Parts: sequence; C-alpha cells; structure tokens
Amino acid sequence: MQKTSATKKYWVAKFGGTSVATHAAMARCVSVVMNHPDVRVIVVSAPSGVTDLLVKLSQSNQLELDIKPLVNEIKTKIHAIMADITPNQLLPTLRLEIETMLSDIESFALTLKNQYSRSDADALLSYGERLSARLFTCVLQELGLGAAYQDARTLIKTNNSFGKAEVLINETEKQVNELLLPKCEKSIVVTEGFIGSTLDNLTTTLGRGGSDYSAAILAEAMRADVLQIWTDVPGIYTVDPRLVTHATPIDEMSFTEAAELAQFGAKVLHPATLWPAIRKNIPVFVGSSINSKAQGTWIRAKNDERHNAPLIRAISLRRHQSLLTINSLEMLHTHGFLANIFTILAKHQLSVDIVTTSEVSVALTLNHPGTGPNDLLTPDILSELKSISNISLTIDNELCLIALVGNQLHITSGISGKVFKRLADFNIRLICHGASSHNLCFLVNEKDADAVIQALHAEFFS
Ligand code: ASP
Ligand code: MG
Repeated sequence: MQKTSATKKYWVAKFGGTSVATHAAMARCVSVVMNHPDVRVIVVSAPSGVTDLLVKLSQSNQLELDIKPLVNEIKTKIHAIMADITPNQLLPTLRLEIETMLSDIESFALTLKNQYSRSDADALLSYGERLSARLFTCVLQELGLGAAYQDARTLIKTNNSFGKAEVLINETEKQVNELLLPKCEKSIVVTEGFIGSTLDNLTTTLGRGGSDYSAAILAEAMRADVLQIWTDVPGIYTVDPRLVTHATPIDEMSFTEAAELAQFGAKVLHPATLWPAIRKNIPVFVGSSINSKAQGTWIRAKNDERHNAPLIRAISLRRHQSLLTINSLEMLHTHGFLANIFTILAKHQLSVDIVTTSEVSVALTLNHPGTGPNDLLTPDILSELKSISNISLTIDNELCLIALVGNQLHITSGISGKVFKRLADFNIRLICHGASSHNLCFLVNEKDADAVIQALHAEFFS
C-alpha cells in the first residue's frame, strides 16, 4: 500500500459509453465528479456507438464493407463533442491530437482491409477509448477541474490474447504504483477503460464491455476506497426494467448476489468487474450519470447488520442459450464418460454454464452472445463428440436462461414449489437448483421468456 496519507481517500469512477456520448453528457459527469471530491481516477469508455463502428472497421475485410462511411460516422461523433468545448488555450493542441488519431483510425482500417491481424485489430479498437479520454480530460479542465491524462496502456499490462486479453495483476500493480499514484497526489487522473498492453507494449483490449473491469483492476491495484460505476440506469434493479415496468432499484446488495446477477445476464455490470473488488474488499457503487441524484446501488461485503439478505434479491435473464443433450446407453454403469465429453469441450474452449445428468444422458448449456449457435458447436466438435462412443446428440436453440438470485435458496423449503406452480403453463427445459445457495435457474423457450420473467416478478416482488 503506497497511499501517502492515512486520511486521504482514493475513489475510482468509471463512466460508460452513454455517459460520455456528447459534450453535454461529459459535462454531467464532471458535475458528478465535483460532488465526489474523493474521486482521484476517472476511467472512461468510448462514446457510445464508437466501438461498434471500430469493430465493423476491423472486420471490413470479411464483411466487404466500405471504410469511408464508417470512419465518417466516427468523425462526426467526435467532432460534435469537440465543437461544444469552449475555446481555450488547450484546444488547439487537443484538436491536433484528435485529428491525428482520427486519421490513424483510417490507416489502421485500410491496413486491416488488406491484411487482417489480431494485434492490428486491437490497436484499431483502442481508439474509441483513447479519443474519449483526451476529450474528457479537456472537458474537466474546461469546467475548472485540474486533470491529467495517463495512457491506460502504460498501466494495465496483459498477456497477448488479443481481443480478450488477461490482465497481469502484479505487473499492473507495479505500473500503478510507479505512474498513477504519484500523479493522483497532484490532480485527478483520466485514463481509458477496455485497453492495455502486452509486456512488449503491443496494444490489447479486454473484451467487449471491458471498461468496468479496467476500472476494477485499477481500483484493486491502487487499493482504492470505493469504485463507482456510472452508467445510464440508476443502479441494479430487481429485474431488467425494460422487461417489467414495476422493477424496483436495489439500494444495497452483497458481492455474491451482484456477482451472480452479472454472471447470469444482468447487463449493468461486466461479469468480471466484481472479482478485483471482492479480492480487496472495495465497495462498488452503481449509479446513473444522467440522474445522479437517484439512489443507485451499493455492492459490498455482506455485513449482517446492514445487509438484510432476502430470499430472492433479483431475477435475471440471459438470452441466446443452446442446450446440448447427449445420450448413451454405454454411460450406464461406466466411468469416464463425462470426462471425455468435457475434455472435448475444453479442447475447443467451449465454456459450459449449467449441467444436469441422469444415468444415461447429460444436458448442458452454452452461451452464444452475438454469434450463431452453429459457430459454437462446429461440425468438427460434433463429430468428435459422436466419436466418443455410441451416442445420440440433440441441440436445442432459441432458449433463455432465467435465474432467481438470492440467499439460502438451497435450504429453503417450498421455493421450487412456488416457482414452478406459478410457471405451470410454461415448458421448463432444464433446472439447476442446489448447486449454489444463491441461485435457482432454468431454461425456457425464447418466446416465453418475457412472460415467465413477468410472472416470477409478480410472485416475488409485488
Ligand atoms: N467501448 C468498449 C465496448 O463498447 C468497452 C466498454 O465500453 O466497456 O465494448
Ligand atoms: Mg458497459
């Protein structure tokens, strides 16, 4: 721990894409920072929509896309932010830097169109956050807060799994102690989410939505007192408010509850975000930069005086699930059958979420966000599975995973009765109850998902 003064607090605040989408949105973030004087480090996402455009540009070669209109769309968004900054003496330098970055985007896109490489793709993707951080630093200065910029690639060190790099926490801590903490003593520091660099300084990205995780890693590395995640919704709700109008915000919840929710599809937090906070016991606040007076949600270690652990805290929904069912009479009274299946899935880096087995069959779920299910279970994988022994194999798509997240679910009598009585009219595909005290989950058909969520919310929250 390198903090210099025992009383000094270090908060890390992360602002998401919608919070930095326009100059007015950035200005709202600045007033949030003014209201929280302990914020020393600010982590920003790319203005919303920019990373999607950069992803398209990075794939222009496969998608046979025209680069120009995509680059122009990015330019328009960035120029609009810049045009609203009141002229000041820093503006000419900023303008130069921004124009250089915008033309770099075009050259990287051209390079990738001719020859794709994962490291060039990551270099291209990094520009959304890099533009955002420069603009945000300038807006802080414009509105009277002294702020310095620090390139996140000098802080967050990663391996070279481009596109979804893993953070090297010891190296990152060293960089944070050397470069970030001394700077924080003097002023607020702005840096990028989502990006890092390898030990030989190639740019990497941490996976879509990774800015939350960047902020958590920096909070961990600097032993921050609080991590704030500012987004466009005022905290975590009992269920996604777009699905149920009566959803209510949760003012406080435990790390475990929030981690289960993020894992099971709540979009508010990137699933990896909480682990660094849990490791160093750093309370996390989730709030809305658009409506910063709204209560928001505090997530912290369970403290029984404060934390009234309800049986059901929230309900989550994850779409795009596939169910793979494998049947084999040879499974009867044999051993090693499950091991063989999982060895094949592991070899192809397929991550299984839920498993149920009976004597002669096993059913498991796979998550395929954004990709089609067939991209996941390729003909190669299927034929390898079929070669194990005499098996039959079925795949069901268009399923959703619904999870009830709460406490003591595994030892509370009547809970499954209550759930499934309410859902008597729906076809429930696979149930997982008892593996965790914090969740009970099952699959339903995509077409039933919204109705199931509404019925459960009515059962447990009205
Ligand atoms: N800009 C990146 C994305 O859209 C990272 C983030 O916003 O968290 O995925
Ligand atoms: Mg996000």
